[in-house]
Amino acid sequence: MIRRLLEHRRYMREHRWTHAHLSAYLDQDLSPLERERVEDHVGICPHCRRVLRTLRRTLKSLMELPVEPRPSVADGVLERLRREP
Ligand SMILES: [Zn+2]
Repeated sequence: MIRRLLEHRRYMREHRWTHAHLSAYLDQDLSPLERERVEDHVGICPHCRRVLRTLRRTLKSLMELPVEPRPSVADGVLERLRREP
């Protein structure tokens, strides 16, 4: 019982910490140890996983705002691979 309570408190602490550091995590602003801490928690917390996914998608769509209409180099490579038998 006490063990469960302590685990829960630890979980909540990690939850709050991770939540506060998710955007720094995506910005690559964390030390390797801190990154590991985020990844450990995200691995066991569906809520933080969802937030991280949403943040990632938002960032991605921001970066995908068309700066130039030409397809990127990566798209060209993918297209070529797709056409090869
Ligand atoms: Zn969490």
